[in-house]
Amino acid sequence: MSDLEAAATPVQPFRVLPAVLPETEPFWRGGAENELRFWRCDHCGYLIHPPSPRCPRCLSKDLTVSAVSGRAEVFAFTVNHQLWYPTLDPPYVVAIVVLEEQDDLRLTTNIVGCDVDDVFIGMPVEVCFERYGDVWLPFFAPVASSGEPTVAEGASGGRSATRSAPE
Ligand SMILES: [Zn+2]
Repeated sequence: MSDLEAAATPVQPFRVLPAVLPETEPFWRGGAENELRFWRCDHCGYLIHPPSPRCPRCLSKDLTVSAVSGRAEVFAFTVNHQLWYPTLDPPYVVAIVVLEEQDDLRLTTNIVGCDVDDVFIGMPVEVCFERYGDVWLPFFAPVASSGEPTVAEGASGGRSATRSAPE
């Protein structure tokens, strides 16, 4: 999305935005290039979230930012019907999704792009981004072709060239 397109976006729902720190900047701004990014351990390959100065698995300090496929599965969800904030209109889905690259790589997010009644545990979803200033919030939408996910460069965290953009 260009700056002009973002500027033309109508009023967005209220969101609590993160403070962007050097260690969280890849995660919050990867959406500018339509990439979901995490720090990855150079030694054992573990994807680290939230960011940490050391790999929690092998304690290595050699970490590199890496883009994942953006594909995930709904692990748990709840449907909110309460109007907690003006402009954040219910009902909407708050979910925990598990990224396909790693069983314990989970994000709390919203499921968008479908009816709240269509969400289910195990639903294949993929990331889409919504820009708020200089932060790109990662949300997840049903995989377009529901069924066979698009094949990427393998399970080692290759990036997908076929990710669909949010509407
Ligand atoms: Zn490690």
